[in-house]
Amino acid sequence: MYPLIRKGKYYHYRSWLSYFYLILFFAGPFIRIGGHPFLLINVLERRFVIFGQVFWPQDFFLFVLAMLAGIVCIVLFTIAFGRLFCGWICPQTIFMEMVFRKIEIWIEGDHKKRKKLDEGPLTKEKIFKKSLKHFLFIILSFLIANTFLAYIIGSEELIRIITEPVNRHWVGFASIWIFTTVFYLVYSQVRELVCTVICPYGRLQGVFTDKHTLGIAYNYERGEPRGKISRKDDTPKGDCVDCGLCVDVCPTGIDIRNGSQMECVNCTACIDACDYVMEKINKPLNLIGFYSEDTILNKKKPTFTPRMFGYSSVIIVLFGVLTYFVLQRGEVDVTIMRSGGMLYQEQPGGYISNIYNADLINKTDKLQDIRLVAADPSILIKYIQAPGRLDKEGSAKAIFFLMVPFDKIHTAKTDIKINIVLQNKVLSTISTTFIGPINDD
Ligand code: SF4
Ligand code: SF4
Repeated sequence: MYPLIRKGKYYHYRSWLSYFYLILFFAGPFIRIGGHPFLLINVLERRFVIFGQVFWPQDFFLFVLAMLAGIVCIVLFTIAFGRLFCGWICPQTIFMEMVFRKIEIWIEGDHKKRKKLDEGPLTKEKIFKKSLKHFLFIILSFLIANTFLAYIIGSEELIRIITEPVNRHWVGFASIWIFTTVFYLVYSQVRELVCTVICPYGRLQGVFTDKHTLGIAYNYERGEPRGKISRKDDTPKGDCVDCGLCVDVCPTGIDIRNGSQMECVNCTACIDACDYVMEKINKPLNLIGFYSEDTILNKKKPTFTPRMFGYSSVIIVLFGVLTYFVLQRGEVDVTIMRSGGMLYQEQPGGYISNIYNADLINKTDKLQDIRLVAADPSILIKYIQAPGRLDKEGSAKAIFFLMVPFDKIHTAKTDIKINIVLQNKVLSTISTTFIGPINDD
């Protein structure tokens, strides 16, 4: 009998991939690259770290660009391979099928035994099995919630929430339990509905796929007309013996022989089950396999279509632009703005002044002494609030007078250049507008 705790070739591939993924997921917040987390998505402070590269609110467009490139990659992947992402990479499926489902099967048995247990009377055995299952689900949901939160606030902050008194971290403490409840409900109650009803990607896949898209499909040309093997019936039949095993193992309960369906998460369980049957009846494997409509009907090999070429070109351009901007990023980010609604002031010594605000961000993990110096040495900077030394990954504000000699002003608005200097090296130059009286001399 085929084990409904699926053990086929593809299931093993998926298992190994999921082990790698799970280790990466739980270790991710603690992995450091150059002193930075491997991945941090701090949406609260709009600070992101991807593969150890820090992105600040000022770099938000880079993050958006990276997201855009990622979305186009998924679209291309969907055009080429259908919903393979769902079964092999999506965290929802990996946790559901490779963690929670395995625990459930371990405690309650395959889906037939589970159905019997669910419909049966409330015995001691049923209470024990259900309690154990839900207890383990809550523990796992709690672990996932903590890890998930660490990707948002950082592992150090999470450790503080866990180790310090609760009254110092009410919000963090409540967040952990809210996330725990959500994950527990998703994996114990909502389950495949996430893929079939809630997930927008699942709903969109029909827009991206076409007759060239590879996906899990039943080779109806080979399988039909289906029918059970019978010595009494000698009508010609296809290879499908109508055993129903492909339906029994399907986590979303669909019959792949009815054609590609939105509910299919490409988990490959039906391929493994059908291959098992084909081996038993000495027929070639892959009655269910990776096919496109074109490969089944016209017996053609998979092709790289113009549509795929178009999306590939967009991805190359997006990643090219992204790489360019990432390489162009400086160590320090400075914005200078003239104080709004203020006129110029006359200063002793023949100077005219305007007030400016500056925001300085240190993107490195070293202390930085940044100086603002006017490119024209006759123009002075007089601080009201000096930026001081910038902490590592810190930011500071500065307020200062820009003092321009009266004889340098010839128009109502003068363009002034300010150098951003670090250890006597000019990092960049910023242009700003200076307003003053018109000097007719
Ligand atoms: S039909 Fe069901 S078992 Fe087959 S790949 Fe799709 S979701 Fe998995
Ligand atoms: S497992 Fe294969 S042989 Fe059995 S019903 Fe499904 S497609 Fe037919």
